[in-house]
Amino acid sequence: MAQGYRDFAQFLSEHFDCKMQKIAVNAGFTCPNRDGSKGRGGCTYCNNQTFNPAYCTPSQSITDQLEEGKRFFGKKYPDMRYLAYYQAYTNTHGDIDRIMEMYREALSVDKVDGIIIGTRPDCMPDELLTQLAELHKSHWIMIEYGAETAHNNTLDFINRCHSWEDTTDAVMRTHNAGIPCGLHLILGLPGEDESMILDTIKQVSRLPLDTIKLHQLQLVRGTRMAKDIEDGLYNVTHFSVEEYISLCCKVIQLTSPSIAIERFVSQSPDNLLISPRWGLKNYEFTNLLNNAIKKLGVKQGELLNS
Ligand code: SF4
Repeated sequence: MAQGYRDFAQFLSEHFDCKMQKIAVNAGFTCPNRDGSKGRGGCTYCNNQTFNPAYCTPSQSITDQLEEGKRFFGKKYPDMRYLAYYQAYTNTHGDIDRIMEMYREALSVDKVDGIIIGTRPDCMPDELLTQLAELHKSHWIMIEYGAETAHNNTLDFINRCHSWEDTTDAVMRTHNAGIPCGLHLILGLPGEDESMILDTIKQVSRLPLDTIKLHQLQLVRGTRMAKDIEDGLYNVTHFSVEEYISLCCKVIQLTSPSIAIERFVSQSPDNLLISPRWGLKNYEFTNLLNNAIKKLGVKQGELLNS
């Protein structure tokens, strides 16, 4: 734990012998919070255009997207191996046979050693989980659920159309199926102060998770949230970099050491991002955070039982 917390690279090194790179694939899934099966209109902060790199469009096959991603990353690191990351929309929503076929396609591509499946916690039927557990006997699989927060009133406000109980249920079933499991969380959702954010981290730390992935709330053009704020209906916390680093240090102190922290920030495309506009690349933010961790002597989980 060189920098005060277990990061994703450390987590991967516990599962793979070589350097691994995720390649995002867009398999053309939809989202149950947009197509009406759970809700309509989507989460108020969501603009799916922010998910995908340029090489990743559903008009290309999964194999072609992965081959293009490999060409891009392989230029610098020829020995790199890969994980296909089903990122955009809800990658477990649809016909189970077709879904499994899409996962198998990625796993049949040369140098692709595993898949990471991003989905909603209310969208993991037992039947699919059983088939994934079977596939996991021969291939590395991880499931990443978008939890966002442990507070149901916030989940209602941002129109997630699922509850925190859906998240805990999905995590427990995935853990019991023997499949590595991560959560995605957003820091700074409307109505949440620091104590609510840290309460989410405490609840997350009690779950049998392998990873968490955090990012600051980003206000993005074309979203319902951006319009509501423009219309003066409510506002959100605008963290300065220093305030957000201080929050991340507290998050680390409350995160169970058994959980790797994949990241703290995300960067939407510049033409879509309204705020915060810190003018920092993700690695520049990480350097600032690592300096603060070192200066303050922050250690993962040190305040978990206080
Ligand atoms: S964030 Fe995910 S669940 Fe919400 S609308 Fe966007 S794709 Fe759907």
